Amino acid sequence: MSRTPIIAGNWKMNNTIAQGKALVEALIPLVKDASGVDVVVCPTATALSAVSAVASGTNIHVGAQNVHWEKSGAFTGEISTDMLKEIGVEYVVLGHSERRDYFGETDEGVNKRAKAAYAAGITPIICCGESLDVRESGKYIDHVVNQVKLALDGFSADEVAKLVIAYEPIWAIGTGKTATFEQAEEVCKAIREAVAEKFNPAAADAVRIQYGGSVKPATIKDLMAQPNVDGALVGGAALKADDFAAIVKF
Ligand code: PEP
Repeated sequence: MSRTPIIAGNWKMNNTIAQGKALVEALIPLVKDASGVDVVVCPTATALSAVSAVASGTNIHVGAQNVHWEKSGAFTGEISTDMLKEIGVEYVVLGHSERRDYFGETDEGVNKRAKAAYAAGITPIICCGESLDVRESGKYIDHVVNQVKLALDGFSADEVAKLVIAYEPIWAIGTGKTATFEQAEEVCKAIREAVAEKFNPAAADAVRIQYGGSVKPATIKDLMAQPNVDGALVGGAALKADDFAAIVKF
């Protein structure tokens, strides 16, 4: 099975509307010839609509950084799938370690958000990953596989085939410390095997698994050469058009 690589930029809480538009305007000519790769930018909520309008008609897709599972109601600060669909959002990053660590996001919440997004036609990018403590305890595979299994609870095998999972070791996010290619491959492979076991081999073959954690233009090529790494979730380097474009064109 050949999986289309997917490179997504997580802007986190960076860029005003004007800055976000300028970044995408700079990116459009740089990535317009990138074929055989899905390109996604994930701005903050306030910039989503404007960035989506600028990216419309190009090969750049837009993702949100979260979504709620309910359709509407008394959920102050949250955004619904309808609101994202209305402005052309096609992807959503869910369960990022910053949301888990700073905002109490749970595996159950990630699962509910993922199911709502999928049902609305928005592709979830489900994040998982271990802290340095868990890595050093040696139990990191169990930890990550457990997160993935909980996030995918209630999905069918056919649905899982269309999802994106991002393995992001927390100790490598924003630290400049990239996991080695072998470390990234080891966990991405374990995730794929877990999907095969919980669902079926076809779903495991099709699901796209990204690596995330200080990905840079200099590291993307070797990362993408790993058989179970299908792309990257990029933080810091996604804020610079040249760097992000170089990653897209690995
Ligand atoms: C991220 O935010 O998902 C991330 C991987 O950040 P960085 O590339 O800056 O480590």
